[in-house]
This record gives sequence, structure tokens and C-alpha cells, in this order.
Amino acid sequence: MKKVYLDNASTTAIRTEVIQEMAQIMAQDYGNPSSTHSFGRNAKSILELSRKSIAKHINATAQEIIFTSCGTEANNWILRSAVKDLKVKRIITSKIEHHAVLHTIMALQQEYNIQVDYVRVKPNGAIDLTDLTDLLAQDSKTLVSLMHVNNETGTVLDLKRVSVICKEHNVLFHSDTVQSIGKTNVDLQELSVDFLVASAHKFHGPKGVGFAFVRKNSGLQPLFYGGEQEKGLRPGTEAVHQIAGMAKALDLSYSNLEEEKKHISALKFYLIEQLEKEFPGFKINGNSDDFYNILNVLLPFSADKTAMILFHLDMKGIAVSRGSACQSGSIRPSHVLAEILSDEDLKKPSLRISFSHYNSMEDVDLLIAGLKSMK
Ligand code: PLP
Repeated sequence: MKKVYLDNASTTAIRTEVIQEMAQIMAQDYGNPSSTHSFGRNAKSILELSRKSIAKHINATAQEIIFTSCGTEANNWILRSAVKDLKVKRIITSKIEHHAVLHTIMALQQEYNIQVDYVRVKPNGAIDLTDLTDLLAQDSKTLVSLMHVNNETGTVLDLKRVSVICKEHNVLFHSDTVQSIGKTNVDLQELSVDFLVASAHKFHGPKGVGFAFVRKNSGLQPLFYGGEQEKGLRPGTEAVHQIAGMAKALDLSYSNLEEEKKHISALKFYLIEQLEKEFPGFKINGNSDDFYNILNVLLPFSADKTAMILFHLDMKGIAVSRGSACQSGSIRPSHVLAEILSDEDLKKPSLRISFSHYNSMEDVDLLIAGLKSMK
């Protein structure tokens, strides 16, 4: 049975070149970057070259890149330190953020009694920027936290516009860019964003490593204490092989971006065409011009098929997701779809299909055949 992986917003396959790079570093470059002998210096040089390479791809400086264990850690760190150390009194966010942001903000609200406001989400999944501007009329030390690409619907935020709005109102701007870095160009000389977050396993790199972009002189303080690694902002011996793997993965992602984007966009277009043909009445959850690798669809099936759909496809070797990864398999509706769908539509089966360059038209045909066998 051919297995079909269409859950790339959840995680991606590691590129062969990345595995080779990491294996070589694990075997040969095992020094601790903090050691002063040649083994340590060699590891340190790999670390710093990785940092430079990552920074270059997003047009930041190397000092602004801080390595972390994942996107969740980076989001937690930035939000917590903004409240604790930068004395942010109010956070403006949305109800469609990833739980790594939403649950962190809820915990901070409890602990520090900060004000939290949720900007309005339009029925197509887009953030209402007029509402954001209205909310910013209030005068208190504020941070805006809005994600770039939504991991469930693929809805894209206009980062440039929001960064201008935040600058005009003199507030901090954090964006969870876990779904976009490595898949679209981000230029930090053009954007006045204060904090960004990325995760290697979303762009064909290893799991367990990510990075934060922290604008120079931000004043952020560490979440925990120990060594002097990462300028003391993120102590702990650096996972050199993971970091080098992440740098290699980002490099390959950006070198192949246009070609892979074209391939993936064609697959998404083909899937929509096939759905129109085989399942008239299906609806796209979100915008028609959402991010090129994610399609979230509401299928014209009865509500009693909802619980079975993922299981049924899985039996046929097809991996897709219902909402975000942490909720797949559970029958609780996604918190993102709950914001944009009616109660009735929420009960019906929605699927998130997310592509990578490894997918083919045949994968789409197999998905359609799998869905047809459920009709
Ligand atoms: N933010 C978004 C938008 C995500 O999609 C994810 C992963 O699902 C995360 C944060 C968490 O990243 P990580 O898996 O590296 O902790």
C-alpha cells in the first residue's frame, strides 16, 4: 500500500542532505562549543556559521538569532519576558493563535493580572485590522502577538501592515512565524517586528530545535539560568548537530523556494479542482488565497462521519489532519474553526490537507479516492 503524507503543517520529512550533515557533525564534531580546545573551537565555529547563515536568509544580524529547543519554547520565552521584564501590561492577540501562544498568554494573565484583548477574526479567518487599530487607541504598555500563517487554515497576516500599525502606536510586535519561515521570504530590514519564532521541523529540518529572532537591545531576559550560552539568554550546551541541521534545512528551503512553491501550489490547485468535481458543495475554511501549502475544507458529509474520517483515511495509508496536530484524533472541535464556522458546520467533517514538495498528483488522487469510498 502506498503511504500518503499530507500533514506537512504538523511536521515534515527531513531532507537527506540535512540528515547527512547532522550525522557527520554527530560523528566528528562532537566538541562542546564552550570548550577552548580545538574540538570546542570547531563546534563553536559550526554554531556561529549556522547562526550567520540563518540570519542572512531573513535579513537579520547574527546577534539577533537565539537558538531554542522548539517554537513553543521561543514563544513562551518572549511572551513571559515581555511581561516580567519589559513590563508589558496588556497583550493584544487573537483567538486563532497556536496554543503555544494562547495558553502562555492565559497563564500570564493569571500570574501577572495583565489585560488581554482579542482582536476580531473575520468569517474568512482573516484578522480584522480596523479592530486592531481601534484596540490600539488605548494607552498602556502593549505587545501585539499575531501569527503570520495560521497552522490550521493557512490564513496569512499582512506582516508589513501590522508592523507599521504597531510602530505607529509605539507598541511591541511579536509574530509566531513557525508556519512561514522557510516557506516564504521574510525580510527583517523591511519589517519593524520585534520578535519572531521559527521551528526547524516545519521546514524539513530536525525536531527539537528552533530559534527566536529578537531585535537588538530588546531588553529580554532569560527564562532560566545556568551558563553563558546564547549570551546568557538561553543557557544550556548548544545542540550543535540540530542547529547545523536547521541551518542546512533553511538554506535548502530558500534555495529551492520558487520551484517548490510552484509545485506545491499546482498540487493545491489540482486538489481544489478534484474536490469541486467529486464533492460539489464542499467549502474552503478560510480564504481562497490562503497560504500555498495548506487547504482546510469542510466536506459535504453528514455529521456522523466526522469521528470516523481520519481513521478511515489512516486505514488507507493517508495522513491528513483535523485542525491542528495536537487535536487530531480527538473529537473536540478545533479552537480555530470554532471562531469562523457556524455551530452546525463545526459538527461536520473538516480536513486540513498540507503539502510539501515531496507530494505528487497521485497523492491527491489517492486522497480523493479514499474520500469517495466514504460517501
Ligand atoms: N506555532 C505554530 C503556528 C505551530 O504550527 C507550531 C507547531 O505545531 C508551534 C508554534 C509549535 O512549534 P514546536 O513544535 O517547534 O514547538
